[in-house]
Amino acid sequence: MPRSPAPLPVVPPEEGQRFRRRLHAWYRRHARDLPWRRTRDPYRILVSELMLQQTQVSRVLDFYHRFLARFPDLSSLAAARPQRVREAWAGLGYYARARNLHALARQVTAADGAIPDTPEALQALPGVGAYTAGAVASFAYERRAALVDTNVARVLHRVFAPEVAPKSGRGLKALWAIAEQLLPRTGRASWTHNQALMELGALVCTARAPKCGACPVRQGCRSVDAVPGRPRGPGDEPRATPPRAGVRSRRRSGSPPA
Ligand code: SF4
Repeated sequence: MPRSPAPLPVVPPEEGQRFRRRLHAWYRRHARDLPWRRTRDPYRILVSELMLQQTQVSRVLDFYHRFLARFPDLSSLAAARPQRVREAWAGLGYYARARNLHALARQVTAADGAIPDTPEALQALPGVGAYTAGAVASFAYERRAALVDTNVARVLHRVFAPEVAPKSGRGLKALWAIAEQLLPRTGRASWTHNQALMELGALVCTARAPKCGACPVRQGCRSVDAVPGRPRGPGDEPRATPPRAGVRSRRRSGSPPA
């Protein structure tokens, strides 16, 4: 008889609230000023999100500005010849992203010209997966939508669920469930929350050398002493006791925290 799958993790609401409070306060002080954080234009957000897939921010910045100077909106991109799009993307790599973006522009322009605003509808477009759909819904439309990219997965895994295998299908499902539980009540606050999670993963809870001593969510993090190779510094002493196992389990994600 097949074994029933392990239940999905549950973050107690008060713990989620504490996590959000610390994370958002840190973000307000430390967020980088990035051009795609200054706009709610869905086309510009989409371009940035596709460019950022598997590519570092510092590398994307130049390409982002040049691409938008050449194709300032969806209709100019839709009307372009494939060779022109390829030229504008040259040097950034992973050309499938440019092909998908071009196909998406043509598909949306041939319909009503409006980039959809829900994760479900966005995922029906070429090259848009669950993460990108959540990012566009949240960052362009300020929808209350969860997202899990590599940075967010790492943070949620370390803080709330180090017992799951983050690259397995089941582990990813668990991390998405946690991301949904942690969303604030409003779409506007979710914008800040999602940006903050990604920023923490990019600047503090990095893959190889997490800066636990400077981390705003170290209290309550279940991996604060457990990540191999992390640097040690002042205020960064090992904990005498292992972190509290406060995450309960349940089979489905439920109502949002306060
Ligand atoms: S305490 Fe360390 S492992 Fe935990 S979230 Fe912060 S940087 Fe990551």
